[in-house]
Amino acid sequence: MDWIKFLGTAGARFVVSKQLRSSGGIWMSLAGKEILVDPGPGTLVHCLKSRPKLNPGKLDAIILTHKHLDHTGDVNVMIEAMTEGRLQKRGVLFAPADAFENDPVVLSYLKDYPEKIEILKEKSEYQLGDLKITAPVKHIHHGVECYGLNFEGGRKSVSIIADTRYFEGIESFYPGEILILYVVLLQPFPDRVIDHLNLGDAERIIEANRPGLTLLTHFGLTMLRSKPWKLAEALSKKLKVKVQAARDGMEIKLE
Ligand SMILES: [Zn+2]
Ligand SMILES: [Zn+2]
Repeated sequence: MDWIKFLGTAGARFVVSKQLRSSGGIWMSLAGKEILVDPGPGTLVHCLKSRPKLNPGKLDAIILTHKHLDHTGDVNVMIEAMTEGRLQKRGVLFAPADAFENDPVVLSYLKDYPEKIEILKEKSEYQLGDLKITAPVKHIHHGVECYGLNFEGGRKSVSIIADTRYFEGIESFYPGEILILYVVLLQPFPDRVIDHLNLGDAERIIEANRPGLTLLTHFGLTMLRSKPWKLAEALSKKLKVKVQAARDGMEIKLE
């Protein structure tokens, strides 16, 4: 049984620092592999508080889409937990090169705890058991090196569009039957360009790809105030495709 669990659905500074939503990232169980994407602050606590409990010692991979704090706050403690304090040299850590360069987010002494470190690069493909993981395109509009992800080989193909400003053609890189979209903003700001997707961008992407199920997450304050579940329902009706807003702790089973 494949499934996806949202340990957290917070995006952007205020929602994370005030913990209006938790920032624990996404745990996925796909094709027999346990994968944690973007372990923000509080991830370990939310794994252990989860019912049933999620055991970090079972993780096969930790993936950072980019080095921003809301995606990496708990990466070091999660590496420790995955490897049981290095008793078990196991798991793969995927991250862009700049996560290890100046201002590194992964502590040097932890770098040899996982079995392997894979540097995410544009168009790179990785095989994790039966699961193929690809980073199809670099999200150049986000200040740091950032990648979305595609997962193939499980019950359903899954795409994650991580933080980015919208760019022409982004849809074509993420064909997953399940589409996870990081939608921080309700609307574009009138006076400045923000390097995040807004709800209009999400609509454009969903309309182009028409995935079997779209899951919105990584909400900033403007999205939260407008009740993401209502926004998702309205989008579903308008586009006649299934769109759902993620909640903290929500689990989706992939039949
Ligand atoms: Zn973010
Ligand atoms: Zn970011």
